[in-house]
Amino acid sequence: MAIGLECTMTFLEEIWPEVKGLPVLYSGRRQRTDRTPSPFNVNTTDRILQPLDLLMSRFGYDRFWPLQEEIIGNVLAGRDGLALMPTGGGKSLCYQLPALIFPGVTLVVSPLIALMKDQVDALNANGIPARFINSSLSGGGIEQVQREVRGGVVKLLYVAPERLPGPGFRRFLMDLELSLIAVDEAHCISEWGHEFRPDYRNLVDLRRDFPAVPVIALTATATERVRDDIIAQLELQQGRVFRSSFNRANLNYSVRPKADSWDELVSLLEKHRGQPSIIYCFSRQETEDLARRLNGAGFTAAPYHAGLDAVTRRRTQDNFIRDRVPIIVATIAFGMGINKPDVRLVVHYSTPKSVEGYYQETGRAGRDGLPSECVLLFSLADRVRQDYFVGQIRDESERRNAREKLDRMVDYAQLPTCRRRYLLEYFGERWEEDNCGGCDVCLEPDREFDGTEIAQKVLSAVVKTEERFGANHVINVLVGSRDKKVLRFGHDQISVYGIVKDFTREQLKEIIAQLRAKGLLERNEGELPTLSVSVGGWEVLRGRGKVKLVKPTEDARPSRGALHEGMAQYDKGLFEELRVLRRRLAEEKNVPPYVVFGDVSLRHMAAAYPRSREEFARIHGVGEAKLDEYGPEFVEVIQGYVEANDVEVPANADLLRLFPSGRESNRGVDGGDRPLGPTYETTREMLEQGLSLDEVAKERGLARGTVIGHMERIAAKGMAVDVNHLLPEPWKMREIEEAFKECGGGLLGPVKERLGDGFDYDELKLARIHFRQLGKFYTT
Ligand code: ADP
Ligand code: ZN
Repeated sequence: MAIGLECTMTFLEEIWPEVKGLPVLYSGRRQRTDRTPSPFNVNTTDRILQPLDLLMSRFGYDRFWPLQEEIIGNVLAGRDGLALMPTGGGKSLCYQLPALIFPGVTLVVSPLIALMKDQVDALNANGIPARFINSSLSGGGIEQVQREVRGGVVKLLYVAPERLPGPGFRRFLMDLELSLIAVDEAHCISEWGHEFRPDYRNLVDLRRDFPAVPVIALTATATERVRDDIIAQLELQQGRVFRSSFNRANLNYSVRPKADSWDELVSLLEKHRGQPSIIYCFSRQETEDLARRLNGAGFTAAPYHAGLDAVTRRRTQDNFIRDRVPIIVATIAFGMGINKPDVRLVVHYSTPKSVEGYYQETGRAGRDGLPSECVLLFSLADRVRQDYFVGQIRDESERRNAREKLDRMVDYAQLPTCRRRYLLEYFGERWEEDNCGGCDVCLEPDREFDGTEIAQKVLSAVVKTEERFGANHVINVLVGSRDKKVLRFGHDQISVYGIVKDFTREQLKEIIAQLRAKGLLERNEGELPTLSVSVGGWEVLRGRGKVKLVKPTEDARPSRGALHEGMAQYDKGLFEELRVLRRRLAEEKNVPPYVVFGDVSLRHMAAAYPRSREEFARIHGVGEAKLDEYGPEFVEVIQGYVEANDVEVPANADLLRLFPSGRESNRGVDGGDRPLGPTYETTREMLEQGLSLDEVAKERGLARGTVIGHMERIAAKGMAVDVNHLLPEPWKMREIEEAFKECGGGLLGPVKERLGDGFDYDELKLARIHFRQLGKFYTT
């Protein structure tokens, strides 16, 4: 089952049994009884809600995202686990937070040396002691870090996999109290993945040397093959697989004609001026040419491809990460090793080779959960170009495979139906909603037209030419060309000759492609591919059934896919000033700007105008460390801005109400079929009037889980919310309370496990809100 980002957290236990087919996992070769005991098994009430408290005090976030809580609970219980979440799903937190609770060190294995420093910087900025060991450090540097780690203060140690086999390093590890092993980018262990790293195979030795230490593997690669491989290779034991939906709700997908690609590009970049953007091109030459042209047109852009020397590439990446150059024009070589969270625009200037690739490349947009745009500029000429390269592949089955993948990608570009649905279904996930509210097809239903007549014309031209020709010839006949071949076969004499007046040749190509995609036309491979009419196509010819087509791209309006401005109203002027401040502070500290604060935090500030320490503390992403470190300067700039611009800040501005959650979908922003975002105040007021959960949910068009999410969030902020009339029966409450006491957990997984099927998560959550309001179980 797919878990939508908005839905209630569900404890995904269902998946583990699937793996039972792999006997090695259950061979009992190695019994592990000496697990680190979960700190929550201690029978004390002090610990309750601790993860949530840590989330707030260290990271400045006020609620977990889907599955984070479950994964953390599983880790804290000392069990192995595998987390499958899309990019930006919040995987890091799943080991970073337990690392704070465990007594010893958490070892994080990560393949990307370039990223380690940023991650460690980000943790340190939150006051969390973390270090890394990789080849960028000198021998002395490594010793220094090892000393610090042995000293016992460091909670997280990041290492590259090639470190692991070294005997010296192994001895160093053996002397440590290792609490948890986190394997980031776990798909690198699998040859089936797209980024196989032989060094990852060293992990199994590590695993065997520390049989008692739980392993959490994390990846954004969802294929089953890779998943099973990770489990087998890492010898994960009796753990769980947690898979969240791979829907990237904050990404807007659209396809535009490549005909006027330059104008399209310029207007897109205008719209996103100053915002980090990536443009993917087909060739190295193309990246350089386009970057030059953009610079000439007043943008700041840099090319990036594998042909550049290492120093230049490194510098270009750095300039992008540090907000010095907003636009990168790249081949697909760019991206791996970039986890810039605030990329707002990804343009594919040419058609990618596969849907996998497209999903991955567009996935680099909007990791921070803010609305971001993914645009594919499509032309059939690109397809021909890709096709040519596919044709060069020697091995026949590989070639067929590559062509199939390309076809699926071209289908995406010509879809008459929701693009999000297509992407998710491609990865085996069901998408139930009719209108995703975040793709051009859903946002512009009038892109479709009744194409029955033109379809009939095309189909009959195929029949009249005896199904012996390819698309080009058929088009020549339809438009009445004086082409030699047409004349030679006497096709200027048949009834369909020249009957198409209202579509251009290019448009006819697209229509034929759509008819193929709909299965009305078939293409027969051969030296000269020919078209033939399918059974379904004959039905259309006989006048049974209508054909809906998407308007061919040439006459598409330029203003396609109008986009949301953001998740909430915020002051753009202030936002820009805060960005400048952020960049200055980041340069001073020599860290990427997002380590100081992410865009979500800046937008929150630009919406709520916090002007005191207390107010600033309530901003998204402000934990204790950043409150002290950055609070004063930000507050000063905000204060200055408010005065200089005579901003009227509403008295007692409710920061919560002004700003919805840090995780929003595109829905409703353009779609208009949902309110602009969860407005907590409304939920609170409705509950005060005694409405039930279902009533509130229905009234507001929200899921029940979302309403409970609002309540948790309100309660987490220490504000009152009316929960009494929603609580389970008194006997249940007593049992729940007992279970909370016993499991000692703010984590619901163990509590639920103890209580069994008679209780559901909603009840537990409501009870927890109630207890929390009574001050029960809540000591910091
Ligand atoms: P992934 O590794 O899955 O791609 P990250 O761990 O980098 O994603 O998280 C993406 C962003 O979301 C980070 O900036 C992270 O700090 C933020 N984040 C993670 N969990 C939460 C949460 N519960 N609330 C708010 N922001 C979060
Ligand atoms: Zn859609």
